[in-house]
Amino acid sequence: MATVLAVANQKGGVAKTTTVASLGAALSALGRRVLVVDLDPQGCLTFSLGHNPDKLEQSVHDVLVGGVETKDVLLDTAEGMSLLPATIDLAGAEAMLLMKPGREYTLKRALASVEDDYDVVVIDCPPSLGVLTLNGLTAARSVLVPLQCETLAHRGVGQLLRTVDEVRQITNPDLELLGALPTLYDSRTTHSRDVLADVSDRYDLPVLAPPVPRTVRFAEASASGATVLAGRKNKGAEAYRALAENLLRYWSGEAELETFETVVA
Ligand code: ADP
Ligand code: MG
Repeated sequence: MATVLAVANQKGGVAKTTTVASLGAALSALGRRVLVVDLDPQGCLTFSLGHNPDKLEQSVHDVLVGGVETKDVLLDTAEGMSLLPATIDLAGAEAMLLMKPGREYTLKRALASVEDDYDVVVIDCPPSLGVLTLNGLTAARSVLVPLQCETLAHRGVGQLLRTVDEVRQITNPDLELLGALPTLYDSRTTHSRDVLADVSDRYDLPVLAPPVPRTVRFAEASASGATVLAGRKNKGAEAYRALAENLLRYWSGEAELETFETVVA
């Protein structure tokens, strides 16, 4: 059975999509069979992995509300991952799901039919705490929260943690909060580090290592339909490769999760 990881934060621009694509590519490069799921109607993950959402006949929308088989919608990507793509149709799924019994379990059921073909499934949640994100959190074994290292990064974190708690109480008792992943990190200033220490104290939330440095390579990569792992050696790719190794060691029971405190202190 695959390990299912949701990447969630209701704030936009914190590198959820970048994390799903880059971590997925890193896990794939390490020999794992990876499925990435685009749950955002904007389709940024789909686009950044080389597929134009406007040209797709079917998407995760048809799986969630149209009864289409998951395997019939999957696409291949250049870096070896499978993609369950999104299109703007998904914007209407939210309202349609609201009328379904067991609506929070729809994605979980849809993934069950393909899960055996993968080692890891990574879900890109939309920037909201609506029904789609609840589906992502209900389908997942663990959740990772990308956090941009800037002042006020913590706004909304409390609300997200309360949602994770509610999901645990109602639809997914085993959901594990892995922690925050620092993104757009600037190691030259102490500011990023102070923000992380503050978030970690305030919410008693583990901060995972390594932090992902700010580099222009991410924008260049997604515009070209590939991830930072595909190009020349760079710090962004190194960080996601290290995160992938960190998670795999943890999931196999070999080691504790490496956190920011142990790496920087
Ligand atoms: P979200 O999915 O949370 O809205 P994205 O992954 O789309 O966030 O990232 C928002 C923007 O930030 C994108 O333009 C992306 O290329 C850029 N970005 C993400 N991570 C980094 C990074 N480490 N350094 C520089 N730019 C980044
Ligand atoms: Mg996104």
